[in-house]
Amino acid sequence: MIGRLFRAHGEFCASHPWEVIVALLTITACMLTVDKNNTLDASGNGLGTASAAAAAGAATAAGTSPPPVLGGSATSSRHRPCHGWSQSCDGLEAEYNAADVILMTIVRCTAVLYCYYQFCSLHRMGSKYVLGIAGLFTVFSSFIFTTAIIKFLGSDISDLKDALFFLLLVIDLSNSGRLAQLALSGSNQAEVTQNIARGLELLGPAISLDTIVEVLLVGVGTLSGVQRLEVLCMFAVLSVLVNYVVFMTFYPACLSLIFDLSRSGVDMSVVREKAKGSLLLKSLTEEEQKANPVLQRVKLIMTTGLMAVHIYSRVAFSGSDYDSVDKTLTPTLSLNVSNNRTESAEITDIIIKWLTMSADHIVISIVLIALVIKFICFDNRDPLPDQMRQSGTVAIAAKASQTTPIEEQDLVDQPKTQEIAPEKSAVRKLLFTIEEQSSKNATTQTELLPLQQPLVLPVRPPRPLQECLEILNSTEDLNGPAALSDEEIVAIVHAGGPHCPLYKIESVLDDAERGVRIRRQIIAGRAKMPVERLGGLPYEHFDYRKVLNACCENVLGYVPIPVGYAGPLLLDGETYYVPMATTEGALVASTNRGCKALSVRGVRSVVEDVGMTRAPCCRFPSVARAAEAKAWIENETNYQQVKTEFDSTSRFGRLKECHIAMDGPQLYIRFVATTGDAMGMNMVSKGAEEALRRIKRQFPDMQIISLSGNFCCDKKPAAINWIKGRGKRVVTECTISAATLRSVLKTDAKTLVECNKLKNMGGSAMAGSIGGNNAHAANMVTAVFLATGQDPAQNVTSSNCSTAMECWVENNDDLYMTCTMPSLEVGTVGGGTGLPGQSACLEMLGVRGAHATRPGDNAKKLAQIVCATVMAGELSLMAALVNSDLVKSHMRHNRSSIAVSGANNPLNVTVSSCSTIS
Ligand code: ADP
Repeated sequence: MIGRLFRAHGEFCASHPWEVIVALLTITACMLTVDKNNTLDASGNGLGTASAAAAAGAATAAGTSPPPVLGGSATSSRHRPCHGWSQSCDGLEAEYNAADVILMTIVRCTAVLYCYYQFCSLHRMGSKYVLGIAGLFTVFSSFIFTTAIIKFLGSDISDLKDALFFLLLVIDLSNSGRLAQLALSGSNQAEVTQNIARGLELLGPAISLDTIVEVLLVGVGTLSGVQRLEVLCMFAVLSVLVNYVVFMTFYPACLSLIFDLSRSGVDMSVVREKAKGSLLLKSLTEEEQKANPVLQRVKLIMTTGLMAVHIYSRVAFSGSDYDSVDKTLTPTLSLNVSNNRTESAEITDIIIKWLTMSADHIVISIVLIALVIKFICFDNRDPLPDQMRQSGTVAIAAKASQTTPIEEQDLVDQPKTQEIAPEKSAVRKLLFTIEEQSSKNATTQTELLPLQQPLVLPVRPPRPLQECLEILNSTEDLNGPAALSDEEIVAIVHAGGPHCPLYKIESVLDDAERGVRIRRQIIAGRAKMPVERLGGLPYEHFDYRKVLNACCENVLGYVPIPVGYAGPLLLDGETYYVPMATTEGALVASTNRGCKALSVRGVRSVVEDVGMTRAPCCRFPSVARAAEAKAWIENETNYQQVKTEFDSTSRFGRLKECHIAMDGPQLYIRFVATTGDAMGMNMVSKGAEEALRRIKRQFPDMQIISLSGNFCCDKKPAAINWIKGRGKRVVTECTISAATLRSVLKTDAKTLVECNKLKNMGGSAMAGSIGGNNAHAANMVTAVFLATGQDPAQNVTSSNCSTAMECWVENNDDLYMTCTMPSLEVGTVGGGTGLPGQSACLEMLGVRGAHATRPGDNAKKLAQIVCATVMAGELSLMAALVNSDLVKSHMRHNRSSIAVSGANNPLNVTVSSCSTIS
């Protein structure tokens, strides 16, 4: 019910932002212009506006009549509250002493530090918008607050010095940040309005209750009778109220307006992305946001109690006692003070006051400057708590270990330096697993693990293991892994058992990045190396959802590989820019040059889906039985039965043929299947397994030795793939004019043809190469494979390539070139193709994911692109090689020592003498 009220209120503010903001500004302006005396008279009568109500509420909370507190001080006793240190004060001036200065300096420093901490927390949300909005909120709150103080308390500007620090202390930017994040996560105005409404529905009741409790609690200070304390508490009460009113009205309106204004042009995606993980947003998806009922009840009881205290105090002090105390004490004080003062004492007082005042300013300035320097120069952008947590992990563990005697055995395999350098921190690794030991003495059974990190004070000491386990396994909202610190997680992992095995830390924590970070710490400890050694291996900002249970286990991070492009490459009438991931300098440039030469006339290609293969090894009791089985499978009717079983395992895997080789009583049944757009290893393995079940029903004496019998043949050099093909078979062809050969490649057809015959055919034959009739096909294959998320190990078979060159029959000057690649194992779905970078590269080629209408076409197109890219690389390198040869002959003829120029020497070979070449 209350929630709904807040929701309606939030909806109103968000859908009428202009109205709310203008109304608030108008009211503020009115407050500034209202006559002070009238205002004072009106205080306590209810001013009917939000801010006025805030101030009026504050005045009421403080007690409007009779006046033991600030309101009273301002209205009846009329002595101006003495909270401006630079001003001379009536009566209270004498009370200024060193204790005051120290107290106020501490309050101010705390306020500044608290503010700094809040902004760091907001910074962690990762968006300048959230920061900006929260900042705006603070500024506006201060503005309203200032106005309220000036007008309603009859203060002058100097009074605000202390008051504003109170505002800083009570303002809670985390709620503003969360609401901003939530609001800006909406993708349209309606969503933003709904989000704000829902946000207020969730936050409103709790914040309101908190505000009441705070006001009443701090309000107790206004009853103290100590005038300075009363004034300060009054400021605090006002701050809380103003903060509340602004948060409930101006802030949601402002959020809504900012979204509206920034819809065109400003990219809110960062905020939205961050907001997805926000707790508040998560709670939106829950059925009902449940506030902690115990806490709520405690707060309500506190409220009632405090109310009673206030009512009682105000009634009790409304008599003459308080007035008389006020009246008698003050003159006495003034009298004593004035009597005891000599002129010189006054001068000394002024000097001391000036000095203490300056000291206060100096301290605050130092704190501020230190914070600014820290933020600009030393803060890395890791979230503050994370940094503290990381360093704390080591520190806390080390601290915990200090209580336990170090066993000699523990130190045996430590380096000598460790023994004599106890300042190098060490962490206690638990020596038991949860199943093995009762948890009672668990915390005392540890082993010393060296850690090189510096000792840093922890955020808080880790809780006992048993408590941590309970929190970890708890299903309550506020518990779970997020409620545990990194060091507590580390302790749980070290404890062993089923709770949080290191290999599945990401899924246990439900936070992959945090899991990876903790694993790095643990592994660094186990490998006895500083975790900083992994510093160059990035792990943040990666979508681990695509990795876990799919691409990699025991993740420590990812290795970035530079990606270049080669292109434009004109292939079958379409232009491609081919992404290549490599660390081999000149590879991309060389391929690019090949693309330039090929694209003048364009490359044509044909592709055949040969099919992916899996060949189990099956053993029979005898050769005769094996032969019988072979004949049975090759029978068309039986083959159809096997195929039905095979095909039943996938929507895309379709058995094409079974090629059976016999070796003694063993059969190697090579299942060949098309696999749509997937490379297909998994698919065909599943199918083969099912097909074998059918065969085994027929031949129960068949023994399946291995699902893969190496006749497949995957990731190993093998003639069978070269001969029969595997995956996609692609042939590309192109003619390159003599002019292009000359201008782009600095060579001619005859030279290239000659070199190709002797090198790629003759030389490879001499080497006994199978599938290696090429210059460096594997270079292009691997670079494109890495960029597009193919299985890099499959470059073995996929790089099979025959590069052929002839002089073009029609004129004998142009070059006719083909590349034949019979075993390109590629896919555009599955494996690494779904990772963000890889999938972007596939997108670049227009072949990402499954083909919309013809499954398999994307994979085939990718195979064609790979083959054409290989062709470009082959042509360019062959030209480079023949050019080097030309350089050699040139040198031989000139018999001189030259540094070969870049133009004639694309490989940039520097030659000092003829003898170094020949
Ligand atoms: P691989 O066999 O290459 O290792 P997977 O079998 O792991 O790849 O991944 C292929 C998955 O993608 C299968 O679950 C398959 O059903 C699905 N898929 C969706 N669309 C296609 C498609 N057009 N071609 C092939 N597989 C597809």
